[in-house]
Amino acid sequence: MRLFRREVVCQEWTELITDYLEGVLPRRLVKAIELHLASCPHCSEYLGQMRRTIEISGALPVDTDVPDELLDALQRAFEDFAQLEHGATDADEDWPGEPAD
Ligand SMILES: [Zn+2]
Repeated sequence: MRLFRREVVCQEWTELITDYLEGVLPRRLVKAIELHLASCPHCSEYLGQMRRTIEISGALPVDTDVPDELLDALQRAFEDFAQLEHGATDADEDWPGEPAD
């Protein structure tokens, strides 16, 4: 399976967002995610929507258990992304909108 790195990062991010908001992600990964958020308006917006959802519902919608090896892989992906992007964005990328099952 070959995907563009951006798509992998953005899609995986949606899997991690509840852990991120709960503050249970490892600090090194939080830092990598925040680097990604700084250069990805789609993920920033998704985070904002999720925060509003939590305010309204008073709870996180889903909790996921993320294995350590996935966290390591994601940290590398986010770091690579941050290095590649340097803040540049494409207008016509394919943003999934909602995480697919
Ligand atoms: Zn993103």
